[in-house]
Amino acid sequence: MLIATSAITLDREINPWEAQSARFEFAARKLNLDENLWKVLSTPSREIIVHFPVTLDNGKIEMFTGFRVQHSIARGPGKGGIRYAPDVTLDEVRALASWMTWKCAVVNIPFGGAKGGVICDPKKMSRGELERMTRRYTSEIIDFIGPEKDVPAPDMNTNEQTMAWIMDTYSMHQGHTVTSVVTGKPLNIGGSRGRTEATGRGVQAICDESMRYLKMNIDGCRVVIQGFGNVGSNAARLMMERGYKIVGIAEFEGGLSNPKGIDIHQLLDYKRRNNTILGFGGAEAMPSDELLVSECEILIPAARENVITSRNAGQIKAKVVVEGANGPTTAVADDILAEKRIFIMPDILANAGGVTASYFEWVQDRQGYFWKEADVNERMESILRDSFDDVVRYSEAHNVNNRIAAYMLAIDRVAQTIRQRGIYA
Ligand code: NAD
Repeated sequence: MLIATSAITLDREINPWEAQSARFEFAARKLNLDENLWKVLSTPSREIIVHFPVTLDNGKIEMFTGFRVQHSIARGPGKGGIRYAPDVTLDEVRALASWMTWKCAVVNIPFGGAKGGVICDPKKMSRGELERMTRRYTSEIIDFIGPEKDVPAPDMNTNEQTMAWIMDTYSMHQGHTVTSVVTGKPLNIGGSRGRTEATGRGVQAICDESMRYLKMNIDGCRVVIQGFGNVGSNAARLMMERGYKIVGIAEFEGGLSNPKGIDIHQLLDYKRRNNTILGFGGAEAMPSDELLVSECEILIPAARENVITSRNAGQIKAKVVVEGANGPTTAVADDILAEKRIFIMPDILANAGGVTASYFEWVQDRQGYFWKEADVNERMESILRDSFDDVVRYSEAHNVNNRIAAYMLAIDRVAQTIRQRGIYA
């Protein structure tokens, strides 16, 4: 693991590729992973960089840069989202692709890991510009994606409309409709019931399992959630309905606190009407940074990466951290939380409800038969609860924390597949 010394700068601490490599190396060493498999698994198998033109609304052409990284396709087609942001880097996409390999292996679904991104500022682009950029990016990577090759999904600043454009562009080139090339599509064109709230529902299932394992009570258990977007707001609503007390919501623009519990239905309604959570009457305003280190039993970072770092980990008071976001905790912070004996449910398990429901979407598209929402929810929760048991059993058997246990379990599963297939070298 990265050790918290002054020699390690925050820059290095928050580099996502460094973060995943630190966990991979630690877990691989614990597993005594064969040297050849180590080399194969620590290197992404394909990294595509594309530079492509897009016509802007003013008639001028702008060049954009996009990435698609396939970390491993040993266990099945690549699976992973596409993000649009001004600060997307190859290192970030690489790290996210490898996290997808480990995530799919932890929940034992037949996918490898991939991720994509385009450097752009979607907030400054019109719908037409976004559509043209999406279609051209798709055409640039078209030979490398497909239901049997690599199946993208939404991520930061992409949504079901983006997936519909990708599906349509891919289908136009194939000459027939291929819904299973992406997941996270609108229901009407091959999307799955239950997909939108699946990640939040999975976070709730993992919180329930953690409470059961730690013999803690759900009723009145105080929860602070960072991020009130797809993952955070769905987790908040489902958990409140289950009896948890949501005492804090930390958003980008500021936070809300209410020791008696925030009514999430009312907050959702307020946000729909006002497009912000600020000014909500059912809670007091509180700075988001303070909420992260406030008194609670469960802290759910569900916004973005690198929010629990060496700077604030020492002050965290939660007993349990359930990572709704990808990569919210740095490796240095992990060591600090471990010393404080905080029970962490790592991202590659805690937010795997989304990819599990995406797997169901891919299955339904290929079957041409669509399931009831209750079936999607029940099957997804059952997979997550079994995976929770696998991870904590692994952690007890190998005397490691849950994150390293999840990595060890995942690496072991991928390595076993590669051993059986053999290395074509
Ligand atoms: P989203 O864009 O719907 O919501 C993110 C929310 O976090 C937004 O409301 C944003 O304002 C807030 N936010 C951003 N930076 C913040 C900060 N510094 N402090 C407080 N709030 C902040 O995104 P999402 O789909 O909910 O994804 C959130 C995280 O979960 C990401 O890390 C994503 O990769 C991960 N994730 C999402 C899914 C999914 O199915 N949506 C699945 C797995 C993992």
